[in-house]
Amino acid sequence: MVRDDFLELYSHAKEKGFIIMLFTNGYSLTKEIINYLVKLPPFSIEITLNGITKKTYESITQIKESFPRVIGNIKLLSKSKIKLILKSNCLKQNKDEVARIKGWTEELLGKPAQKKYRFKYDPMIFPQLNQDKTPCNYRLSFEELVELRKQDPDIWEEYQKGLHSDFPDLKRDGSFLYHCNSWMQQFFINPYGRLKFCIFSDKFSVDLKTTPFKEGFYRWPSQILNERFNTNSKCRDCGLRSVCYHCPARAYLETGDEESPVPYYCRLAEETAKEMALKIKTG
Ligand code: SF4
Repeated sequence: MVRDDFLELYSHAKEKGFIIMLFTNGYSLTKEIINYLVKLPPFSIEITLNGITKKTYESITQIKESFPRVIGNIKLLSKSKIKLILKSNCLKQNKDEVARIKGWTEELLGKPAQKKYRFKYDPMIFPQLNQDKTPCNYRLSFEELVELRKQDPDIWEEYQKGLHSDFPDLKRDGSFLYHCNSWMQQFFINPYGRLKFCIFSDKFSVDLKTTPFKEGFYRWPSQILNERFNTNSKCRDCGLRSVCYHCPARAYLETGDEESPVPYYCRLAEETAKEMALKIKTG
């Protein structure tokens, strides 16, 4: 929505039959855009709401008066028939408010039936795609995640969901570098026209401005499937891989090396494994 021609792009995608899910911080929504979306609705709109007090919210956005503006836009959208989903990153700054954000959401949008939440948490924070690790200064430690879970067990569920969706196939021998099958399930085309198989990495990507889609689509699978560790990384035969957020793309963002362990992930994985073992032991 930072683009002046957003509505033009949106209408074009609608005409082409795309199922559109709009992800926004809610700040750039104007009355003109909202009215347009009400008339020509997307499948859903997801708005990140990282605080439920002006002080906390604006300490994160660093934009004065952004809180009343976003809350106003959320309330406006809540009166329409558009499916609205609110979500929060769990951060050091808002850890005391995440459960309240959810409560506020349920008050506004109603409690979702059969766990089809209109509210989602994102407990994990990763570096930016250019390897800038500044966002990681705000991520929660394992202890803080556990504390949060006391406010709402769904936070833990979201954390674990992240593990399972990324590592569905762990039957391969440890020497293979890639264990995720993201590339078999999805692809992305970024705003620069690159076809990618992983949101965290440009490694296996092609420029669709110069390469036909079909050729690009079939170029990588065998290489991804067969790539192996080149080092004796601790991750290679680590028994905690099934409960760890480690993957080559994330390791590269965190350490500059696809094969390196990430101490923060190790800590989370060790504690997660301990907790699972305890659960099994105590039934
Ligand atoms: S990051 Fe740590 S816990 Fe995760 S796979 Fe590597 S060594 Fe194991």
